[in-house]
Formats: sequence, C-alpha cells, structure tokens
Amino acid sequence: MQNRNPTTSETKQPAKFRMTRQRRVILEELRKENIHPTADMLYEMVRKRLPHISLGTVYRNLELLTAMGEIQTLEISGSQKRYDGIPQKHYHIRCIYCGRMDDAPIAPLNSLEDNLYGATVYTIMGHRLEFLGLCPECSLNETARRFAEQALPAEAAL
Ligand SMILES: [Zn+2]
Ligand SMILES: [Zn+2]
Repeated sequence: MQNRNPTTSETKQPAKFRMTRQRRVILEELRKENIHPTADMLYEMVRKRLPHISLGTVYRNLELLTAMGEIQTLEISGSQKRYDGIPQKHYHIRCIYCGRMDDAPIAPLNSLEDNLYGATVYTIMGHRLEFLGLCPECSLNETARRFAEQALPAEAAL
C-alpha cells in the first residue's frame, strides 16, 4: 500500500504480507494488553492512533495477520470472533456472562491427544480447550450468578 520503504526482512515476504504501518499498529494494539478484543473493540483502539482507518480495513488486516501466523482468530460459538495477539497454542478462560476472555495460566495438555491415540478413527491434529466461569466483576452480580447456574450443563450421573 502506501508503505514505500519496507525494511530488508520485510521485502522477503510477498507484497500482500508486508508489515504496513496500519498492520503494525493493529498488531501493537492487539498485543498491548491481551484482552482478546472483537474487531469492533479493536477498531476503537486503533482509531485513536489512525483516525482515518475503516472497520473494513481492520477486518482485512486481521485476516492477513492470521494468515501470516502473527495472531490467532478465535471462533466462539454463538458470539463474535475475537482476536489474540499470541500465536502460540494456549487455553482461555471466558466469562459466560459478559464475554471477557483471559489466557488460562496452564501449559497445553498434549497428553490429552495421546490418550485418544488408537481410541478413535480420527487422526488427531490438535485440540481446543476453553474454561468457562464468571469474571471477578460478574461473580459479584446476582443475576450473572443465576445465569451461570442455568447455562452450564450439570454433571452427568455415571
Ligand atoms: Zn464477566
Ligand atoms: Zn489468548
């Protein structure tokens, strides 16, 4: 785009994968605090630094950054996609009431995949794991607590 002097390391990548200023600002905002924002949230953050950027441009750059392996796009059932500045595998904790999402402070459980070996007809390529709960604020909210009790399935009696 308008980036006329890419640095040497950037020239090796195909033109559309170049780290433009817009792309760099989006990445910086995404990595500043890892709040796993939606595209709308990120757009508001980026707009403070790039007032003329459009939501469409933010979307396009998020797709490209995902393709470049710089970020992760998190697909959450029944809710808007969220974006993660950390490209390495890690787990999340999500508030089922307000949608806040944080990184879960545990290492990936690769043995989970080993346990499935031979027990399924699938070739296991990876897994996702999400912990559900109430964030500190929602924990204090009576409506949120009642919602959570009804939203989560009960343990099956084995
Ligand atoms: Zn919450
Ligand atoms: Zn994350």
